[in-house]
Amino acid sequence: MIPFNKPYLTGKETQYIEEAVKLGKISGNGDFTKRCQSYFESTFGFKKALLTTSCTDALEMCAMLANIEQGDEVIIPSFTFVSTALAFIRQGAIVTFADSYSDNPNIDATKIEALITSKTKAIVVVHYAGVSCDMDTIMDIAMRHNLLVIEDAAQAICSKYKGKALGSIGHMAAFSFHETKNIISGEGGLLAINDEHFVNRAEIIWEKGTNRAEFFRGEVNKYGWVDTGSSFLPSEIISAFLWAQIENINDIQNKRLAHWEYYHKGLNDWAKNNQIKIMPIPETETNNAHMFYLICKSEEQRKALITHLKDREIYAVFHYLSLHASDYYKEKHDGRVLPNSDKFTNQLLRLPMFYELNPEHIVKNVITFNG
Ligand SMILES: *Cc1c(COP(=O)(O)O)cnc(C)c1O
Repeated sequence: MIPFNKPYLTGKETQYIEEAVKLGKISGNGDFTKRCQSYFESTFGFKKALLTTSCTDALEMCAMLANIEQGDEVIIPSFTFVSTALAFIRQGAIVTFADSYSDNPNIDATKIEALITSKTKAIVVVHYAGVSCDMDTIMDIAMRHNLLVIEDAAQAICSKYKGKALGSIGHMAAFSFHETKNIISGEGGLLAINDEHFVNRAEIIWEKGTNRAEFFRGEVNKYGWVDTGSSFLPSEIISAFLWAQIENINDIQNKRLAHWEYYHKGLNDWAKNNQIKIMPIPETETNNAHMFYLICKSEEQRKALITHLKDREIYAVFHYLSLHASDYYKEKHDGRVLPNSDKFTNQLLRLPMFYELNPEHIVKNVITFNG
């Protein structure tokens, strides 16, 4: 069976882990963590990068930094992973779920303003499949209403919007290095801070509510409990693994992009003939080949295509189930229908995408499907 995802190892991961162990410091915020963080800051232009143990953690830090309190409202797309909403729910937020565009799963920026009330504190955007949301419109709305913008950039490493790295546009952003993402550390994440005034507090929340980071830089002469927080920093063992991935990030990206292009060329005619749409990439935006997805004409067609591929030992998978209709939130949702989010819930299908993929084999098998 060809899996949907296969974690790629560059070969240096265990060597760097061994180095970290030999250095004698395997807790957090050591050499490898600092190396990774400076890479992200200098390459993507973040004011501050902090590694976390997951993207979910980084999002929780965002919710804390945004001072989300009981009853505050946060606007979040319904077509996303649970963590995007959960991080804010834990702080007591009420989530106002927003719909997607009709032709792609990103939050429909033209419908955000109607959802804003006097209790709204933040807009959380998700760059689905690493393709940017309409950031100019969203930042403009946020500025006019004095709201924070948090980018869930879990899938968006190395992708850009009008020349700017995703994750560098909102006030803060969260990335994931889960084994299903482009660069990985098993579990892992990154908090990116772009608004300088959150940097100091982010470091404190990261290190259990203490000013430990300032202490080790010699900026204060003792450290203690100064704020809320948790233990969000990864061990050096994780950071060492991630460093091996970062060293090969260009190779990883080029390989994935080549697979993506092969899919795109090879499936274009077939898709048209079957009334299937291939994921759109708007002209102002880049593609980081995180994902290759199709939008089937119906749920039945998607089911038939999944079966067709499964019979040929290829594992293609659908994705999110609208969060506004989830068991956890449906009672709390305000009742608005979100037809586009539901459409992607029922009709979106992802083809296998990973470094060692043989896309020719997949295309050959996909195009024998007629329906
Ligand atoms: C993967 C993903 C997450 C969660 O990332 P973790 O690192 O597993 O916590 C959150 N949001 C989106 C959009 C994701 O794709």
